[in-house]
This record gives sequence, C-alpha cells and structure tokens, in this order.
Amino acid sequence: MTNDMRLGTERTDSFHPSGVPMESTVCGQQELHNLLDVLRPYGTARNPVGVTDIKQADSSPAITNIIIAGPCSVESEDQIIATAQALAQVPEVKMLRGGIWKPRTRPDAFEGRGEQGLVWLREAKLATGLPIATEVATPEHVELALKYEVDALWIGARTVVNPFSVQQLADALRGTDIPVFIKNPVSPDLNLWMGAFERFQKAGLTRLAAIHRGFAYYKETPYRNYPMWEIPIELTRRLNVPLITDVSHICGNRELLQATAQKALDLATDGLMIECHINPDAALTDAKQQITPDELKVLLSNLTFRSKQSCNVERDLAGLRGEIDDIDSELLQLLARRMEVSAQIGEYKKRNNVTVVQMDRWKKILADHVATGEEMGLSPILINKVFEAIHQASIERQGRIMENEEDSH
Ligand code: PEP
Ligand code: MN
Repeated sequence: MTNDMRLGTERTDSFHPSGVPMESTVCGQQELHNLLDVLRPYGTARNPVGVTDIKQADSSPAITNIIIAGPCSVESEDQIIATAQALAQVPEVKMLRGGIWKPRTRPDAFEGRGEQGLVWLREAKLATGLPIATEVATPEHVELALKYEVDALWIGARTVVNPFSVQQLADALRGTDIPVFIKNPVSPDLNLWMGAFERFQKAGLTRLAAIHRGFAYYKETPYRNYPMWEIPIELTRRLNVPLITDVSHICGNRELLQATAQKALDLATDGLMIECHINPDAALTDAKQQITPDELKVLLSNLTFRSKQSCNVERDLAGLRGEIDDIDSELLQLLARRMEVSAQIGEYKKRNNVTVVQMDRWKKILADHVATGEEMGLSPILINKVFEAIHQASIERQGRIMENEEDSH
C-alpha cells in the first residue's frame, strides 16, 4: 500500500526542510479524521470510559494493530525527515512518534529540542502524510503541541504518577478532543492509571487510549520495564479503552522486541508503539532499543497477527493466570508465616515441657476448617488433605525444635 492509499493526499504549498518550496503530500483532513477516529474508545459520551462494561470481541476491528513508530527523540531536521520518509514506506505504520521534551534521569543528558523539534516534526508530517504524536508533560507543552498541529499526544509514565500534573494537562486540553494516549505509571498501580483516564474523561476528552510500557521492578529482569501483562489486561477489562503496547520501553533492547511484540499481539493488544531511528546507534536517547525502519519491516513481517477472537481468549487467560500466580504467592507467604508462628509455639512447648501434638485441639481445628470450607464450596477431602499436610509439617518442625536441632529463627 502506498502512503497515498493510506491517508489520501492533498497537494499543498509547503517548504522543504532545505527551504526550497516543494509539492508535498499531506493527508486529507477527512482521512486523518477517520484514522484518528478509530482511536475513539468503545465507550461514547453517553457511555464513557470508566464504566465497567467489558470490551466486546471484535467490537472495533479497525483499531486492531495500529503501528506507531518513530524515534525516541526528535534530534535534528535530517534525522526526523529521513526516519519519517523511510517509515512512510512501511504500510503498517499509521502514525509517527517523536519526543520533543525528554524526561531524563540525570540533568546533563539530552532533554529534547523543544519548540524547534516541533517545527521539524511538522515538516515530517507534511513530507510523508503521517500523522504525528508527541509526549506532553506540562500545559506549555500542550499549547505548543497544538500550535504545531500535533495529531495525538501521549502522557509519559513519569507524568502519570503525578495526579497534579495529569490534572493540569487535562485542564489544558479541555475543549479539544485530540486523541490522548495514557502510558502506564512507572509504578504498578492500576488505580493511578485509571485515575488519569478519569481526569481526562472528566475534562471532556473522549479519544483516550492506554499505552502499556512496563513497570519499574525491584528484581533483575531481562526487561528494562517489567511487563506485568495482567495489569494492562485488567485495565482494559475495567475501562473500555484501546490498548497499545510500547514494546521498546518494555524491552530496553532490540533483541527482545520481536518476541515481546508477538506476546502483545497474542494478548490482543490493539496496536504497537516501536521506536525507530534512521541510525539507532547514533541516537541521543534510548539507542539500545531503537531499530531502523528496515528492521521494523522485518519485525512486522515476522509477526503473526491473530484473530481478535482467539486473542481475547489468550488475554482473558493471561489475566486469570496472573491472578493465580498472585494467589499462589500469597499462599506461599501465608504458609511461611504459619510455619514461623508454629515454630514459636514449638519453642514455648519446649520451655514449658508440653507435648508437641495436642490431639484434641487439632481434631477440633480440622473439623472447624472442614465445616467453614464446605460453606465456601470447598470439598472436605481437599481441606483434610491440605491441613493434614500443613499440620504434619508443623509437627515435624516442632519436633526438631524439641530435639534442639533447630530454633525458630
Ligand atoms: C518515550 O516514549 O520516549 C518515553 C519517555 O516513554 P516512557 O514515558 O514510557 O518512559
Ligand atoms: Mn524512548
């Protein structure tokens, strides 16, 4: 598919980056509107996001598999124009991203080109017909992004953690209905993510989508940001919004991109955000995770796009499996705690010369558990087996304490 087919084109007088007037293609307003319209959440003004209806399978096939690509940061005119032109040759790419204001961990790092970058980003849009998206973190960013006709905005993970900032952005956007993509907060806090949606929704914005970019995690992982897939799945279960997966910020390196993008598609993501740079190794930010437009082509051609129906099954199962994992981990912690208390009882019995097995007490406890379990719909066989095993392990531990082989710590 050519770019013309993708968005439709109009001839306008425009200026080439070099300053030489040229005939360029820009997307026709109607086509652009249609494209962005697919980002409208399944909810409507009467039935907005925030309601708990579950997204219908295949309710909006048009939104499936939107690819947003572009550099982490807009660095120079040549860089963004060359990247955009190469991406415009990839039919699946529907939108060009480019960071203008970069939230950096350390103060002396490259913090983006600011307003000058918007001039170049808009040139890239005029040159290719691709709609453009950028990150906004302050009302001033919003004002400038709107001035330079940015087509969609995203709110970064570091901004979504701060309800004051989110509210300021929502207020700044009141009266517009530009698509806003809300990234998950850095911390795995579903309510905080949902709260951001509610703030924009209350400000009257209806074209909201979620971007999953992974979460800061305390353990070593191969990912830059741990995906915790169950969180975006639960978000889309609670809020009727499309989900885009930013595989670049989840992975943090090129090697994991392919498998992670496939996983996202298997879980019924509605689109992918992938950082692309004409010369990734020379990128001023996030060099390790960016790929060339040619590499993007290969990545996309190796993906299996599944039917929404079967993806929904996977997504539902992944959500439920995540819940099982959480419950199992709670069970393990509870068992460890129980064993610790039981060991303290062992110490007490030893000090006071009491026998380990207090059979009458145990029989009563087990009978109570079986009765309570039955009220909860659990079979007596299961309760007997589980608690006999737990009891047995406790007795063995207390026995070892009695024999001075172990203490409770
Ligand atoms: C980005 O998209 O370039 C970015 C800074 O992302 P995040 O907010 O997810 O870290
Ligand atoms: Mn980045």
